[in-house]
Amino acid sequence: MNIILFGPPGAGKGTQANFIVKKHNYFQLSTGDLLRNEVKLKTSLGKEIEELISNGKFASDQIVNTLLRKSIVNLKFRDRIIFDGYPRSIVQAKNLDKVLDGFNQNIGKIIFLNVDRQIIEKRIIGRVTCEICNMTLNEFFNKSEIELHPCGKEFLVKRKDDNLQTLIARYDTYITTTKPVLDFYSKNKNFNEIDGSSSIEEITSKINDILKV
Ligand code: ADP
Repeated sequence: MNIILFGPPGAGKGTQANFIVKKHNYFQLSTGDLLRNEVKLKTSLGKEIEELISNGKFASDQIVNTLLRKSIVNLKFRDRIIFDGYPRSIVQAKNLDKVLDGFNQNIGKIIFLNVDRQIIEKRIIGRVTCEICNMTLNEFFNKSEIELHPCGKEFLVKRKDDNLQTLIARYDTYITTTKPVLDFYSKNKNFNEIDGSSSIEEITSKINDILKV
């Protein structure tokens, strides 16, 4: 079953996706990672994306759809995709339905992590991600895990867009563009809301319960 993890930036989508990948053998599809990867490859598309991301804007639907389609058609990931941070607009949500339908797939569960703005700030400012294993940790909350990280703490890096100014722009974009997606999905039978301000372990356990059903 494919899953959508939904919520504002810093809600903990990447953190939880990491657990689901390991426990339930899923493929994590983060359009943010797809976009950042394109930037790393320094393609002309990558340069265009870099400019948008550093201004806190979203990449165009067309850019995201092109990158996304490449993963959806991969048979290795069939019915095992966890969408982390996608879709972010109504156009993307409708497009996702269409692309999945074209490959005889659908969304099994939609999980919304609900967290308010104050909590998000600390999470985003302290966020570090491992360049090797993709694990996400936090400089305020995970000091010892960072010191003892098995890949080596030098691989734990900050994202360029994780600063207060960009966060404010990203949060505003979330409210205006992404919130309507929530209204679109919340009517579905397979929609589940979780309090994202609770501990990582509590959220993981709630997600496991949802996936068992
Ligand atoms: P998103 O993918 O939704 O943007 P992340 O998973 O990257 O969010 O989490 C953002 C930051 O908050 C990271 O530094 C992460 O370690 C931390 N974090 C995630 N979930 C929690 C939680 N439930 N409690 C405290 N900190 C969290």
